[in-house]
Amino acid sequence: MSSSDALPISLEFFPPKTPEGVDKLRAVRQQLYALKPEFCSVTYGAGGSTQEGTFSTVSAILAEGVPAASHFSCIGATRASVREQLAQLKGMGVKRLVALRGDLPSGYGAGGEFQHASDLVAFIRAETGDDFHIEVAAYPEVHPQAKSPDADLQAYAAKVKAGANGAITQYFYNTDAYFRFVDDAYKLGVDVPVVPGIMPITNSTQLMRFSDACGAEIPRWIRARLQSYADDSASIKAFGLDVVTDLCEQLRNGGVPGLHFYTMNQSAATLEIGARLGL
Ligand code: FAD
Repeated sequence: MSSSDALPISLEFFPPKTPEGVDKLRAVRQQLYALKPEFCSVTYGAGGSTQEGTFSTVSAILAEGVPAASHFSCIGATRASVREQLAQLKGMGVKRLVALRGDLPSGYGAGGEFQHASDLVAFIRAETGDDFHIEVAAYPEVHPQAKSPDADLQAYAAKVKAGANGAITQYFYNTDAYFRFVDDAYKLGVDVPVVPGIMPITNSTQLMRFSDACGAEIPRWIRARLQSYADDSASIKAFGLDVVTDLCEQLRNGGVPGLHFYTMNQSAATLEIGARLGL
């Protein structure tokens, strides 16, 4: 694909917790709309902890004339609560969902009527037919709780077979893991688009913390370079832009169906990467 071909992009936000955060995110979105996203998605705290903020952010995006996807996690949820929220989302005009199991904060029992994301996808399809375009999560570097890489791939295939239209990956900095995952899924007969999730690098402490929690690998050479910059945030950002732009180039050259940016409610890095990619 040449750089002039349009590569669909999507942007992910989390629901702000304060009125100042809401204002700031509105301004960030206006800047990022320059990238002409196919849709913007809003995360959802497991156990419904952010439901109000998620739904109001989704509504704000729709009111700005941009398609919005609500993330939707099912751990700890009941069929009745999911049914009610699906009706609410439909009423709001939402047409896309990112269907997830989610992780309950420690201290919560598992509970709930859904065990895996595949149960949620099947339930959404049974209840609402084709009303929603459903994305699910994919893990090229294997979900940290998976029994084995093969079991994780089978779990991914089960989500798609339950009715998902596509997938968005956990972020990664190793394109081989992504391309192998897509090939392995294809061999199982699972060929929905798998959009790579892209995490810009702007803050090394935060990146290390997230990566330890979600099982994304930071290659040794990236980790070492980031550590060598210590608190020199200008060098971290400059290095991060080079590394992540390069990653996106490799993915684009490999023919990915799109790029999904984990914006962390910030515009600068995503905009700069978009500009360097000619998006
Ligand atoms: P699942 O697909 O259910 O998988 C979870 C684990 O169970 C895996 O180890 C899998 O191998 C295993 N498994 C699945 N099915 C079976 C089965 N039938 N038998 C045995 N094992 C099985 N979290 C949030 O709380 N809110 C968000 O908004 C959010 N957005 C995300 C967006 C993306 C693009 C991604 C990649 C992740 C997101 N997450 C979010 C994180 C996600 O909730 C966690 O990674 C969670 O631990 C797993 O969710 P899942 O939907 O992938 O679960």
